[in-house]
Amino acid sequence: RVLKRMDVPPPSSILNPLHHEEITLFGPGPTNTAPRVCHASSLQTFGIFNPPMVDLMKEVQEGLRYLFQTKNELTYAVNASGMAGMETALTNLLEPKDRLMSLTNGCWGGIAAEVGERCGAIVTKLEHPPGVPFSSDEVEKALKEHKPHVLYVAQSESSTGLLQPVEKLGSICHQNNCLLVVDTVASLGAAPFFMDRWEVDVVYSATQKAISCQTGLAPISFSSRAREKIASRKTKVQSYVFDVNKNMVQWGVDGVAKKYHHTYSSTLLLSLREALSMIAAEGLEQMWKRHSENTKRLCNGIEELGLELFIKDPAYRLPTVTAICIPEGVESPGSLNAYCMEKHKVEFGAALPPLVGKVWRIGIMGYNSTEWHTNKALSVFKDGLLHIGYTPK
Ligand code: PMP
Repeated sequence: RVLKRMDVPPPSSILNPLHHEEITLFGPGPTNTAPRVCHASSLQTFGIFNPPMVDLMKEVQEGLRYLFQTKNELTYAVNASGMAGMETALTNLLEPKDRLMSLTNGCWGGIAAEVGERCGAIVTKLEHPPGVPFSSDEVEKALKEHKPHVLYVAQSESSTGLLQPVEKLGSICHQNNCLLVVDTVASLGAAPFFMDRWEVDVVYSATQKAISCQTGLAPISFSSRAREKIASRKTKVQSYVFDVNKNMVQWGVDGVAKKYHHTYSSTLLLSLREALSMIAAEGLEQMWKRHSENTKRLCNGIEELGLELFIKDPAYRLPTVTAICIPEGVESPGSLNAYCMEKHKVEFGAALPPLVGKVWRIGIMGYNSTEWHTNKALSVFKDGLLHIGYTPK
């Protein structure tokens, strides 16, 4: 007997044809996906170990080694967004009672501290006011005092627009028996990063920013020191999905026979392969230059409007996300964002804690890091300012 009456009928909203409206993304990420990458994602799905999927995973690993500038064998993409990269890094490195130090000068250090607490780690936050970078000397002093097993730092503090220098931290950590985890979610592909040269132990990123791919994968890489720490764990990694020991078998790391752990999205891997191919063809040096030039163009344009940038020293500005101080007298800054969306189909970023109500954020990155997009962002932003009653200089 066919059951006729459904408890929940098919919703009319879903029966309607898909309506897709294109929005220009000038927020802190995601940014718009490169059209070539969109085409790759329209291709047919592969089975988990189909020969083309095996080749695809290998090519993605090779492309990621170029992007991270590493020879690390354990380099792959976690099957979820940037936060899953953070969870994978910290849940695998930390055992209960291990010590984590989190450099906190914006929102991401606080989030990493919470992930560390959930692993049962003893967490110390080294804190600075938002947007103030850490010097290697003070980090060294804090490592000697607190003796953490793991140090977390965001190269890209996207809540404030700060580019935190990280090149000296690896050797300082290693002199103090500590492992270095670097978050490059909003900087990889846009700012110089050399995993091996800078002695970074774990780095992770996300695909939806300077990499110009869709959201949904978190590239990650582990040094041999990080692998030794994981191999010497006395307790199981608390997450099943993000357990590196299981992920590395599915990726065939060290030439082992691949085994099923969970289903990776072949669609997203096709996209990422295409994005990595575009990056390899352009060359990282050129990508870094392009991002730096367009963000400078944006910053100059913002200052010409009479507004102040949150990060005062240009040497510490992220080449992706720029935070702009909301001038005194602007009562509802969010109405600028709402107007630009409604009138121009343009997204600008709102602030994250601790800067809510203090900054707007504009992201120019990946496929959108061009002179044309930067000029468009500036002219739409200026129109938004006029709309909220602020007269630009
Ligand atoms: N770290 C940083 C520095 C970020 O900018 C973001 C995303 N804005 C994340 C982590 C989290 O990534 P996702 O939103 O892709 O999970």
